[in-house]
Amino acid sequence: MPHARVSSSLLAALFALTAGAAGAAPAGQAAPDLKRHQPQIDRILAEISPKRIEAYVAKLVSFGTRHTMSETESDTRGIGAARRWIKAEMERCGAGTPLQVAFDSHVAPVSARISRPTEIVNVVATLPGSQVASKDRLYVVSGHYDSRVSDVMNYTADAPGANDDASGTAAVMELACVMAKYKFDATLVFMAVAAEEQGLLGARHWAEQARKNSLNVAGMFTNDIIGSSRADNGKVDNKQVRLFSQSIPATKEMSETVRQLVATGGDSDSLSRQLARHTKEVGERYVKGFKVSVIHRADRYLRGGDHMPFLEQGYAALRFTEPAEDFAHQHQDLRTENGKVYGDLAEFNDYDYIARVARVNAAALASLALAPAAPQNVKLRTDRLTNDSTLVWQANAEPDLAGYRVVWRDTTASDWQGAKWVGNVQEATIDLSKDNVFFGVQAVDRDGNVSVASYPLPQR
Ligand SMILES: [Zn+2]
Repeated sequence: MPHARVSSSLLAALFALTAGAAGAAPAGQAAPDLKRHQPQIDRILAEISPKRIEAYVAKLVSFGTRHTMSETESDTRGIGAARRWIKAEMERCGAGTPLQVAFDSHVAPVSARISRPTEIVNVVATLPGSQVASKDRLYVVSGHYDSRVSDVMNYTADAPGANDDASGTAAVMELACVMAKYKFDATLVFMAVAAEEQGLLGARHWAEQARKNSLNVAGMFTNDIIGSSRADNGKVDNKQVRLFSQSIPATKEMSETVRQLVATGGDSDSLSRQLARHTKEVGERYVKGFKVSVIHRADRYLRGGDHMPFLEQGYAALRFTEPAEDFAHQHQDLRTENGKVYGDLAEFNDYDYIARVARVNAAALASLALAPAAPQNVKLRTDRLTNDSTLVWQANAEPDLAGYRVVWRDTTASDWQGAKWVGNVQEATIDLSKDNVFFGVQAVDRDGNVSVASYPLPQR
């Protein structure tokens, strides 16, 4: 019976995945060790410092307000002083490394949340990749440095934004400073973004420019509200972070690629879902005892963040957010009512927790930027009906490529359950029915760095 055959094969493969066994491979193409920690990633994670993150948050809060329309002339108050400090700080810690720090500026016209033409300035630190075949592949990590109070148009009141989103901004600064001392094949872009609260304007500008310039943004993470491990009911949960991940975009028209994805049941194998699956695996492997809770939704229910403009441009993009938000501590005027303190104050942050989330980011970004690109043009052969599955794909260009791994999972499972190393080939037949499982193909380099999986579309 086909069903029994699939089940036993899945079990065997699950065992193979757990044991790290390579499966049958052509002679001379043994699988690299895909489970080992890369020493460089362990070193980066060890260097990430809760103390420095705390100091960054304190400095950001010290600017009083970082509202997008707040003043820009003062050196001590307002968003202008804040962005000049962020840039100077990243230049200081990136000195002697290839890190390039620049402003990305545009003037936003009057809109729903912008009452006068306003200069929107992102601070962008780029760490160029060192491998010719990979340096045009970009991974972006962001936090937004603007802040707000109860009235989104109030640009004078104190708006500390310690959690929303000095936490994400500080994490990104720490990532840039630590990672700049290391080499990666692909390029990393660390961004402190403005005008999130006024309608995602800073992120949208960068994402639109990226698409216009045909940049290959292979993945984007926004860190927004990663500061507190304490829920509004007082319960502390510092053992997990939520990772929001879109299926397919809610557009009126479907592209042909999306249509084929949906037609083959692959709505949980969108680019963002593949990135989330990969981030969870790597994050949990490197940050012991910490869970990356993938949520199959673009953001919190009907809400948004700086990953949305990247999704709109067709890029894979995810959002990291603490497990349970306390709404008394975000978007609030500073006040005390009936003994309860309202406001986004630094005292409510948990810096060890922010550092843990930063480490998940670092592990994922480093692993992605060390690994080859996800295989391109992956297809499932459909020219005859069979109960096994033949996959084909285009060869990768990286000089340190070792070969490919085919992964699969039950159609109701979220994470890969089986894997087979197939060597440096462009075609593989797996003894499982494409009717019953989802497949992916990953590229692997000689050090055992594994790419995100690519979903096979039907070959016609
Ligand atoms: Zn935010």
